[in-house]
Amino acid sequence: MRALIVIDYTVDFVVGKLPCGEPAIAIENRISELAASFAEAGDWVVMAVDLHEENDPFHPETNLFPPHNIRGTEGRELYGKLKHTYERYSDRMHWMDKTRYSAFCGTDLELQLRARGIEEVHLVGVCTDICVLHTAVDAYNKGFRMTVHADATATFNPGGHKWALGHFRNSLGAVVEENGEALNHQ
Ligand code: ZN
Repeated sequence: MRALIVIDYTVDFVVGKLPCGEPAIAIENRISELAASFAEAGDWVVMAVDLHEENDPFHPETNLFPPHNIRGTEGRELYGKLKHTYERYSDRMHWMDKTRYSAFCGTDLELQLRARGIEEVHLVGVCTDICVLHTAVDAYNKGFRMTVHADATATFNPGGHKWALGHFRNSLGAVVEENGEALNHQ
């Protein structure tokens, strides 16, 4: 069994309070298609979703970014087709709140993966060079095999996207795929 970890593909990160914009909108179909295909295959699918409390003085992001993904707001809902895919396969998908960039930080993601005997994680979502990157670094340090889907990750920063894809492959040993094919050159 593999796991697909869908990172922060919410309204706020795509078109809302802290938007990636066009590059994130452009992966809507692919991210939704991958989520459905992993669920159909019986693999484990996790929606790892940033969670903030309003005006939290103790959160380090309070000084870094405008408020986003506040508990109970529409901005925390999954964006576009992914929301419908999640509703359709809700019995086979797992929702996981996270409060830091990495989906492993402060969550039981590692325990859930180990309990299922999962050794291979696939990463998609936003931002390639922030939350996907930090999740990938943790997955590497914890010894998981990893694939990052270049056509289902996005960021507001084109240079950061390119750099992060190279880092996944060259420094974290990840397979970087596009259209299901491994990319050999970044
Ligand atoms: Zn955040």
